[in-house]
Amino acid sequence: MSIPSSFIDQILDQADIVDIVGRRIQLNKKGQNFWCLCPFHDDKKPSMAVNQDKQFFYCFVCNASGNSIHFLRRYENLDFVDAIETLASSVGLEVPYTKQVVEETKAKEINEEANTIYKNSLKSSDGAEAVTYLKNRGISGETAAFFNLGFAKDGWTNLYDKLLPKYSKPDILESGLFSAKEEKVFDFFRARLMFPIRNIRGQCVAFGGRILGDGEPKYLNSPETKTYSKSNELFGLYEARELNKSLDSLIVVEGYMDVIALHQNGVKNAVASLGTAITAKHVSKLMRYAKNIYVAFDGDLAGRKAAWKAVENALPILREDVKIGFIFLEEGHDPDSYINEKGKDAFNKLLENNISFSKFFLSKIKKVDDLETIEGRSKAAKFAIPLINSINNETLKQAYIEEIASICRLDFASLISSNAQKPRNAPAPSEAAKPEENSGSLLARKAIVGIFTALIQYPNLAKDRAFESIHNNEKFLFLLEVQNKYVENSEINASIVFEQIRSDQIKRLFSEALMSEIELTEENALSMLKDCLHSFVKNQKDREEILKEKYNVDHISSAERRELQQFILKKAELSDEDRVLLTNLSSKRD
Ligand SMILES: [Zn+2]
Repeated sequence: MSIPSSFIDQILDQADIVDIVGRRIQLNKKGQNFWCLCPFHDDKKPSMAVNQDKQFFYCFVCNASGNSIHFLRRYENLDFVDAIETLASSVGLEVPYTKQVVEETKAKEINEEANTIYKNSLKSSDGAEAVTYLKNRGISGETAAFFNLGFAKDGWTNLYDKLLPKYSKPDILESGLFSAKEEKVFDFFRARLMFPIRNIRGQCVAFGGRILGDGEPKYLNSPETKTYSKSNELFGLYEARELNKSLDSLIVVEGYMDVIALHQNGVKNAVASLGTAITAKHVSKLMRYAKNIYVAFDGDLAGRKAAWKAVENALPILREDVKIGFIFLEEGHDPDSYINEKGKDAFNKLLENNISFSKFFLSKIKKVDDLETIEGRSKAAKFAIPLINSINNETLKQAYIEEIASICRLDFASLISSNAQKPRNAPAPSEAAKPEENSGSLLARKAIVGIFTALIQYPNLAKDRAFESIHNNEKFLFLLEVQNKYVENSEINASIVFEQIRSDQIKRLFSEALMSEIELTEENALSMLKDCLHSFVKNQKDREEILKEKYNVDHISSAERRELQQFILKKAELSDEDRVLLTNLSSKRD
């Protein structure tokens, strides 16, 4: 499956980056840009600019940059498809997936095929015991069919024997449906009622299997594969959206049978996290499709712990426009048993009486220690600091700071600012801006930004003869590539040029130019372009001369030796002097 590029252009066009960022982080308009605290580095003053005209964001400190897709991918840690889904749902569009002939892996195809085999097996005499089990649990044939439930027969190679003629052994092993031991392959699921897990596109990517009878483990899930990550998928989400594309609320429960029992009893918007804690990716996905999210847990200690884990994971991406509430079931009940015993209305009553996210959060803070004592209040404040720091939404963060200040009776705001932590999505050192090593490269950087700024504002300048000075020199290839984009199409959108630049460093410089607030006249742009090209070329020449000088009269480091070699090698034509120097440099004869 793939997404047509025309659709990607369409949502980038319809979704407004100011809205996308603004729903997550407080933005303030200043000059041509909106500004906010950058969520990608430890920011003290607003360093991130979001530009509505260019539909682009850029951080002047850590150089994080890009369009709405880039922002979402990084902020909510999403893959490309999930970022597109989020954008599409924000403007009320459905992603039109197209069948792609070449899939990167056969895993989904094999899982789909297995689902068909399991389903047939449930309908045949093999599945009689499983059907009885479902009937005893009050699940109708219609519900079983809606969730595509199936049955994995007992035996070591039932599924394997059916799939082997069609697929290669490596593909089969990659599907997550088999185990291998000493060259022998056998079925992972045996004698189990099978629950297919579908991704948001409706493709079967994994299974859960429940044992019939008393064996252990009661539930078994597919292992993680290239196409299935349990921290990302929610059982029942595809099915809930099949019935209603504009869901008002979603209920997160623990198990497959909870989702199915709720559905059977008329509550058709439940999903299950798959034997794992509720992750930030889950929360992000839930917020995409509904504005009210209820999370149901058992009322015991384990349930409370799981709820708290969900709180910690949700804090960084909290939003004002999405409500999250918790439901704790009475001892001994899960949603399945609860709705079967007390019915739909009683269950809906539970939803109505949910404990809000903030209430649950603050009650936990209050329980840290005895708030009647100074020590207790300090301890509670200390506990809250890293949690509050992880909230990226500034408005919500302020609200929590005030609440905690009054609970702990101290100036919590000042504690927060002196304890600011690195945010979760802080760039890895390699991605972060590297300090410039010398003034020469700083000059070169400035010159490149100047050239890009002129081109972005006046794309026609790409045809100017000034660029001839850098032709035939590989060292300037990155500049020529950008120039070419504008020569080919002077109407090209800057964010598309950005998308096509391969080097991260050049991308950063291009972003800097894109967010530049200088407004140039065409005449000024041309002279800036010429000056910058000139100074850039000169800077490169100077560097070569400096290195040669150093080589001739002084010691040269191995890094400098390589740099000088590169300078010479990249020339279109070599002089005799260059040739000699090159030979000497390669033979290390100093
Ligand atoms: Zn930053």
